[in-house]
Amino acid sequence: MLCYTSIIPVNGVIPMAKSPQVKTANLQQVKAANRSLVFGLIYRDGTVSRAGLTARTHLSPTTVSSLVDELIDLGLVYERGPSETTGSGRKPVMVSVNPGGGYFASAELTRDGFDLALYDLNCKELGRSSERVVRYSVIGVRLIRAIEQLMSGCGLEEKRLNSICIGAPAIIDPDRKVIIVSTVLPMKPGKDFIAELRSRFPGIPIRLENESGLRCYAEMEYGAVTGIRDLLFIDIDIGIGSALILDGHLYRGSSGRAGEIGHVSIDYDGPACACGNKGCLELMANVPSLIRRVVSGMEKGKPSVIGELTGGETSRVDLETLRMAAERGDPVVCHALDETARLLASGINSVLNILNPQAIVIGGKMAELGQVLFDPLETHLARIALQPVSGSRSVYKSSLTGDAATLGGARLLLDEYLRQPGLGHAGRPG
Ligand SMILES: [Zn+2]
Repeated sequence: MLCYTSIIPVNGVIPMAKSPQVKTANLQQVKAANRSLVFGLIYRDGTVSRAGLTARTHLSPTTVSSLVDELIDLGLVYERGPSETTGSGRKPVMVSVNPGGGYFASAELTRDGFDLALYDLNCKELGRSSERVVRYSVIGVRLIRAIEQLMSGCGLEEKRLNSICIGAPAIIDPDRKVIIVSTVLPMKPGKDFIAELRSRFPGIPIRLENESGLRCYAEMEYGAVTGIRDLLFIDIDIGIGSALILDGHLYRGSSGRAGEIGHVSIDYDGPACACGNKGCLELMANVPSLIRRVVSGMEKGKPSVIGELTGGETSRVDLETLRMAAERGDPVVCHALDETARLLASGINSVLNILNPQAIVIGGKMAELGQVLFDPLETHLARIALQPVSGSRSVYKSSLTGDAATLGGARLLLDEYLRQPGLGHAGRPG
């Protein structure tokens, strides 16, 4: 995941610059790049000696020692003591990343407020809060206040806040950092609440990301399948959101609209969608459409245990009763699940044929059905896919909980932090 910069001097020799000003700038850039390189290696290895860093970086021992000392002064690295190796001679002093050397703020906007969490350099959660917001026009002010209160409540110094990520169920303009459109948030398109945060936290990188993208990122790093570099994540509830990881990177597309699998049409004569298309997957295979299929079967008088499980009240039909009924082999429910799986497979297959991901992870409420949905989905995918995704299984249930979006946001910030030469806010000397 680490990306090493190219401006690394070989054996500590720094390229000559043309003028004193340029030379000074280059020296600072090289120093910052090397500091990031050393920090990234310490982070990845967990514990390493200065000699080990010298061997890995090809920098001179003096340069490495100076960079490590600088990282120690910044509070990002600490000395753990001598190595536990049993060899003779002087044992090298090992260094490790100080998880408390910096932290990240990660928030997820919801229909009626937001969740906020702070994470240390190991992406361990330090604190969390939830806020209800009645007037979404003041969302920027509320986020600022919540960050301030959570930092204070956790006893964290603001100078160690590295960066902030805001996740939103929306299409995001990645350049202007504004929401283009959201069917969930009661927010006017184009409202620049990020500018308010930028004004309050000057110099601190602030990201605005699609929520499904953050969940997808969390799946890659902490989810059900590990070692995955190409991943399709699908979030199925009332809407169907999705996101893509391609070659280990979150893929947003040219204007932030990549991964909108919910608006792939699977029936050109189907119901009209708000997006202007017809027969969108979101309308045909979301949770309400599945429940409608079951209720429709019941109303046609087909035998089903659903009546027994719900006391005959169709309003009580939910995913838990569907799962229980399917496990008992209920024909109405099994038929509805099979039809929903067939439609999902049709939409998913379009992505598989174009991008050939290693795995598909399904999250959201629909994933609570587990194998009673995934088994027919696998069957339909195997029937229509050009080739298996990978191995014997292609569809996995998300193993992450409700904090996946904020966790993914924190991990995204961490990976950027490890890449940026200046090491962000906490790494800025002085
Ligand atoms: Zn649509």
